[in-house]
Amino acid sequence: MLHENLSVNEMGHLCIAGKDTVDLAKKYGTPLMVMDENRVRRNMRIYKDAMKKHFGEKSYPLFASKSFSCKYIYRLAKDENIGIDLVSSGELYTALSTGFDVSKAFLHGNNKTDFDINYAMESGVGYFVVDNLTELDRIDEMAGEKGIIQKVILRLTPGIDPHTHAAIVTGRVDSKFGIAIETGQADEAVSYTLKKKNVRLCGFHCHIGSQIFDIKPFCDASEIMIKYISHIKEKFDYAIEILNLGGGFGVKYIDSQPELDYEEFIRLISVYIHNEVKRAGIDMPTVVMEPGRSLVADSTLTLYTVGGTKEIPGFKNYVSVDGGMPDNPRYALYQSDYTVCLASKMNEKADFECTVAGRCCESGDLLQENVLIPRPVRGDILSVLVTGAYNYSMASNYNRIPRPCVVGIANEEDFVVIKRETLEDLVKNDI
Ligand SMILES: *Cc1c(COP(=O)(O)O)cnc(C)c1O
Repeated sequence: MLHENLSVNEMGHLCIAGKDTVDLAKKYGTPLMVMDENRVRRNMRIYKDAMKKHFGEKSYPLFASKSFSCKYIYRLAKDENIGIDLVSSGELYTALSTGFDVSKAFLHGNNKTDFDINYAMESGVGYFVVDNLTELDRIDEMAGEKGIIQKVILRLTPGIDPHTHAAIVTGRVDSKFGIAIETGQADEAVSYTLKKKNVRLCGFHCHIGSQIFDIKPFCDASEIMIKYISHIKEKFDYAIEILNLGGGFGVKYIDSQPELDYEEFIRLISVYIHNEVKRAGIDMPTVVMEPGRSLVADSTLTLYTVGGTKEIPGFKNYVSVDGGMPDNPRYALYQSDYTVCLASKMNEKADFECTVAGRCCESGDLLQENVLIPRPVRGDILSVLVTGAYNYSMASNYNRIPRPCVVGIANEEDFVVIKRETLEDLVKNDI
């Protein structure tokens, strides 16, 4: 199967972490997301161990919250002793509600509101990742009012184009995020930040994009960032302590994609960093990374119940399921690849070519086009694999469809980690 936590049992049913998905669908209803906790822990440990080994003891990964923010994940991150990045007060609130120590958290966002800035400062968030100088003014002002010195790092764009989907490229000069090195604006930003009284410049950040399988852009970006740290040392006689390399490592969604060896990727990046640090004669910074997708995506699958099947002779076949863009908008947004299988009939011949459609009143509500599965009947359980990242966190109530239930599996037990939304939940804010 696609990942080692997936298998097929003697009944021809798909299993995740040894659990029969058809049984889970029966027990909890559909749409249902099932998360294999061990896989998340394993992924977190790979990063944590590799980063310590190759970048030094102080180095650590941050879970990129936006990929799947919920209490369960923050408890796992806390348990595995890794940090987090946050992009909103909502994510911060969720983390705090589990007792997460946010002194190691990094607050992102290209438009932090006054509410966000205030809440993050009051909560003791460790680092603000500053996206632009308007924002820096406000952070400095609010830190001054509170009588604190806020630690900040500047988000820079190293000018790397990693050849991934245009919607998830972020490191180019013309990005909406960050301050460009190439245009000289980064130098101005550093000079400006160093003059501020209530913030302390601790580091630089870059994030070149997402779902990247090629190591080269990461190595190039790392080299540019170290060169830049050395340039700042020379120009301003100021030592940068933290280099945050962002996230972006690719995940295998379909057979034709590789399964990356993240430890090897980290080792290769470290070779560039150590070389460049040595050449420049600067101190090795604390390197942090912000993986999101590669920590959670392959831990999870989604289960749906098949409703209607429609065959349009000479055109195409549709299989409709009881979820879709409300729980997974990624195909509608950017035609993301997914592996689809008929979880209740894994051993039957997959010779029915079809488009898997969601239940919304929207032609674009598709989960995947032109997939091959056994011809399903109403009531069959269909699964979309590798849905742990950017699915639940992007979910909506479009068409007033309640968000699905999320079930965790650990030590051969299954348990609810996010309750299914109810119809009453849908109207709780309506007056
Ligand atoms: C989205 C994002 C990440 C996580 O990216 P993945 O591809 O999920 O690893 C990390 N850092 C920043 C700033 C991001 O915007």
